[in-house]
Amino acid sequence: MKAAIYCRVSTEGQEQDGTSLQTQLEACRKYCETRRYEVGYELSEAWSGLSLERPKLNELRDMVRSDQIDTVVVYSLDRFSRDPVHGVILMQELEKHGVTLEAATETVDNSEVGKLVFYIKGYAAKLDAERRRDATGRGKQAMLKSGKLPQGTGIGIYGYQWIKEYKKRIPLEREARVVKRMFEMVVNGNGCFKIARTLNEEGVPTKSGKKWEARTVSRIVRNPAYMGITYFGQTSGKNREKKPQESWYVLPDVTPAVISKELFERAQAALAKSKELHPGKAKHEYPLTGFAVCGYCGSPLVGSCLRGDYRYYHCRGTHPTASRQKICDARYIRAEWLEGVVWEKVKSVLCYPELLMGEISKQNEVEQAWVSDGTIDQEIKALNRKLKQYAGQERRLMQAFKLGFTPDVVMDEMNQTKKEKESDQVRLASLIQTKENIAKMGDYEGKLKELCARIVPDLDNCTNQDKKDAYTYMDLSVTATPEGVDIKGYLKPDVIQADSYVLTTGQTWA
Ligand SMILES: [Zn+2]
Repeated sequence: MKAAIYCRVSTEGQEQDGTSLQTQLEACRKYCETRRYEVGYELSEAWSGLSLERPKLNELRDMVRSDQIDTVVVYSLDRFSRDPVHGVILMQELEKHGVTLEAATETVDNSEVGKLVFYIKGYAAKLDAERRRDATGRGKQAMLKSGKLPQGTGIGIYGYQWIKEYKKRIPLEREARVVKRMFEMVVNGNGCFKIARTLNEEGVPTKSGKKWEARTVSRIVRNPAYMGITYFGQTSGKNREKKPQESWYVLPDVTPAVISKELFERAQAALAKSKELHPGKAKHEYPLTGFAVCGYCGSPLVGSCLRGDYRYYHCRGTHPTASRQKICDARYIRAEWLEGVVWEKVKSVLCYPELLMGEISKQNEVEQAWVSDGTIDQEIKALNRKLKQYAGQERRLMQAFKLGFTPDVVMDEMNQTKKEKESDQVRLASLIQTKENIAKMGDYEGKLKELCARIVPDLDNCTNQDKKDAYTYMDLSVTATPEGVDIKGYLKPDVIQADSYVLTTGQTWA
């Protein structure tokens, strides 16, 4: 183990600093001797500990960078640096080269400076992230104020070409004609599905050269950009159909109009009218939505309808989203088959409600016990305390430092701290959720009892809502592929296998 000893006193005078260079040097030598370190270098200087630019320190850092030493020995950590931000930089540099830092009179982790270094790692990283976010926000607003769209994503909207240099759109004549035709078709009473099919039959491609889908058409004929009004601020697909919020920016010059305001408004009226004529899409309900996940990738299964009539469940993972590629190749599952299998199973349990209720009560007792013996509350309390401490760390840093800059080297550390905090937050949220669920299950017990009393006499004529209620109260979870189905919930194997038992004893729902 090759060591370099570093000693420092401040410029203001050795006495004020308390420990002379000679005292420091002797202590460090003794420290190395007991550990059998080979002392390769002894560096001493009189310089402020708040400066990073110190001649001997620079020499030391050169040694570290050129891998000449294995460890740095100081008298106490504040000899190395009095500024925790610098401390972080220095320590990271040492770590990077596998060099340890040891103090003759204290352990690094427990010293006051050591603790501050730990705090500042988290704080500096947080500050850095906030600055970065702030800068992006300001850049966007500046652009919006000058009438430009702050981002051009991908190929842009149909009907226009996106001019990156000017951050504006210009109409493409051929596409603009198609857009106008779509609006006119809507006004003439055509639905989006019909419009998509017509365009596909005529061989008119979408911007990416694919076939039209009803929802693509639907998005176009509802987008006010085509009459020359650009809203910016929509962040998620869910908001797309909603009215622009106050926080949105209206950019009049970004997108030139390709249709008149009047045509746009007539189209909106026609769309609203067709919605009135076909309310709720009663034909296309998917009662298993929210209860079923893909057996291959675990993504939720959602309902969709092919060729107008055939209902399917398909895995969300089979479609790419804005943030990821597609992750699954699962084929579509016929809705009728899946719903049938699940309902048969649930029905077979509902037929013997007493057994079911017994099972639920038993389960509830176990879970209620978990709540009432305080185990769960204790953990929640401990996590809350821990999360408060993170805040305390940040506050202390705020008070301790006025940071002029944040070095990149601390980014890793900040991410680590952030990760720990986030994982604690996730755990806390899930515990609270569990607690709520347990409380809810008690409630569900009663609701299920009512539901059974009502629907058991005629289980073959239940509404989808009845089924969904039953699934909710029974905490149903379905894992499905086109090949098979796995059903969980208060449908424990012993309940299901007990069918025959119930039959022989002749129990019925009272
Ligand atoms: Zn999947």
